Amino acid sequence: MRQVAIYGKGGIGKSTTTQNTVAALAEAGRKVMVVGCDPKADSTRLLLNGLCQKTVLDTLRDEGDDIVLDDILKPGFKGTLCVESGGPEPGVGCAGRGIITSINLLESLGAYTDELDYVFYDVLGDVVCGGFAMPIREGKAKEIYIVASGELMALYAANNISKGIQKYATTGDVRLGGIICNSRMVDNELELMTAFANELGSQLIHFVPRNNIVQRAEINKKTVIDYDPTCDQADHYRQLSMAINKNEKFVIPKPMCQDRLEELMMEFGILG
Ligand code: ADP
Ligand code: SF4
Ligand code: MG
Repeated sequence: MRQVAIYGKGGIGKSTTTQNTVAALAEAGRKVMVVGCDPKADSTRLLLNGLCQKTVLDTLRDEGDDIVLDDILKPGFKGTLCVESGGPEPGVGCAGRGIITSINLLESLGAYTDELDYVFYDVLGDVVCGGFAMPIREGKAKEIYIVASGELMALYAANNISKGIQKYATTGDVRLGGIICNSRMVDNELELMTAFANELGSQLIHFVPRNNIVQRAEINKKTVIDYDPTCDQADHYRQLSMAINKNEKFVIPKPMCQDRLEELMMEFGILG
């Protein structure tokens, strides 16, 4: 079983990209569980066709420890298994601790079965605090992909996440598997993202174009794979899923200093 975590800045497209990639893997016959690790709890909506999944933390709060797996694990598109960790009561508690509570509960309820090919964690990555590093800190996810675009803030977050991965990679076996560009149609974005990924010692694993079909599918509560399986965008998610499936390049990333990051952006004509 491969345990994969998808990190990236809020709003960059982690949940959309994760669910479409997972849908493509499911379509290709892989058994996948998705564990949403964002207090927003919208990591599985498109796989569940909008069904509102009660989060693990809410279920724990409402029902105490008397939980069965079916309460928190819902079947989604083509046999995918969907979980939302949820978050603490606003203003109280640590979201990261909530993630590990829910992973531990899934383990004790027997959710990690041998029939699973993949577990995907969709993790908020704006703050690279100890809390949101939990899936990698605790050695759950060993394979990380970062979703980014050619915008400075997205690259800044991706570089910061790389610092967190570097920290845990040197003491454990977590590795960066690649950068996924979710395009914002920035000038020279493909070249910039390729250079950014290479500078980290990693690779640009796929360039996902920006396309309004994503919004149309979303409004219909579906992944693009489900909504319009023959469109080009669906093929992009299939290519990404197969690139992940056959990936063999796992590295300890080499993050940049802020000056180098800005210099790189200037080289490709984005700043200055
Ligand atoms: P995150 O999980 O990183 O916070 P989301 O996956 O929720 O981000 O995406 C934010 C918004 O961007 C969504 O409304 C989604 O439809 C849109 N989006 C994501 N990827 C694309 C894309 N490739 N083309 C067009 N819109 C996209
Ligand atoms: Fe929030 Fe992170 Fe601090 Fe936990 S460790 S309270 S998730 S900032
Ligand atoms: Mg999300």
